[in-house]
Amino acid sequence: MTDVIHLLPDHVANQIAAGEVVQRPASVVKELLENSIDAGGTSIKILVKEAGKTLIQVTDNGKGMSVTDARLCFERHATSKINSAEDLFSLKTKGFRGEALASIAAIAHVELKSRRKDDEVGTCIKIEGSEVTSQEACVTPVGTTICVKNLFYNIPARRNFLKSDSVELRHVIDEFQRVALAHPSIQFSLFHNGSELFQLPEANYRQRIVNIFGGKTNEKLVPVEEDTAIVKIHGFVGKPEFAKKGRGEQFFFVNDRFIKSPYLNHAVTAAFEGLLKDKAYPSYFLYLDVDPKSIDINIHPTKTEIKFDDEHALYTILRSSIKHSLGQFNVAPVLDFDR
Ligand code: ADP
Ligand code: MG
Repeated sequence: MTDVIHLLPDHVANQIAAGEVVQRPASVVKELLENSIDAGGTSIKILVKEAGKTLIQVTDNGKGMSVTDARLCFERHATSKINSAEDLFSLKTKGFRGEALASIAAIAHVELKSRRKDDEVGTCIKIEGSEVTSQEACVTPVGTTICVKNLFYNIPARRNFLKSDSVELRHVIDEFQRVALAHPSIQFSLFHNGSELFQLPEANYRQRIVNIFGGKTNEKLVPVEEDTAIVKIHGFVGKPEFAKKGRGEQFFFVNDRFIKSPYLNHAVTAAFEGLLKDKAYPSYFLYLDVDPKSIDINIHPTKTEIKFDDEHALYTILRSSIKHSLGQFNVAPVLDFDR
């Protein structure tokens, strides 16, 4: 009998990995934005067409890439962000898996232009289905522009699975807002089919929330602040009288990363106990800073779920600090006269 096991060719392995990292255009937006932030960009511009199905372009003024790095960044497990497994416990960057660009390049037409500040000319590279089709010197500003066209062009099943433009655009905007809320000191803009959706100047946390959700938001925000040995918390909760029926603006950030946590969400809801009308959900923008050693981000490729060492203590601290803030700002219960 002959042996039957063989290693998959790179482009096949990349396409499989892409299935986990890239679900839809919004996933590409998230990965590219995170790379621009990791590169130290202070101004980041995003253009999308047809909700990102045909074009997603992200331009930053970050540190740029060398000619060799511009080629290497599309290889799987190619990263400048970690060197060893220990580094996983002291992560300061959004990325570390070295998978995003390899995945995206396996399922789209990608063009990258990049220049470092000390390089006279930049480099422009084109790649399709994991194959580099050209690389040449080019004139380009300091920083990086990545252009992703025709997402899932070689996986019709995935392309057909995409929702309408309005649904996909909603996902793009969600990812954009999550990243923009986590980094108020960075300028962001988002354009769709040529029209400007967001133009966010450098701001503080409160101003950034107001710039995204509108001027009326300002008066609704109650500040939350807590400093303990295991967690530092800052941010805002919405006053109970403004709580809406549907799940509205609910954001947790841990070490500047948007995360989903039904458990911590429960802690917030518990803090609002007795203050909300039936079926109303509190809104919140809560930023938690913890020791990177006390969390594991590497439990899912998209990194929106993380594991905390001491989830229970976090729950208790979060609930009590929100209760305290709501009390301090004299927030009275909402009496339900409709009943
Ligand atoms: P990761 O972010 O996990 O390292 P990626 O595939 O997203 O993996 O990116 C691979 C590498 O390409 C990064 O580690 C970084 O060195 C480089 N890179 C990607 N995007 C940019 C950018 N906008 N500016 C500068 N370097 C970048
Ligand atoms: Mg990355």
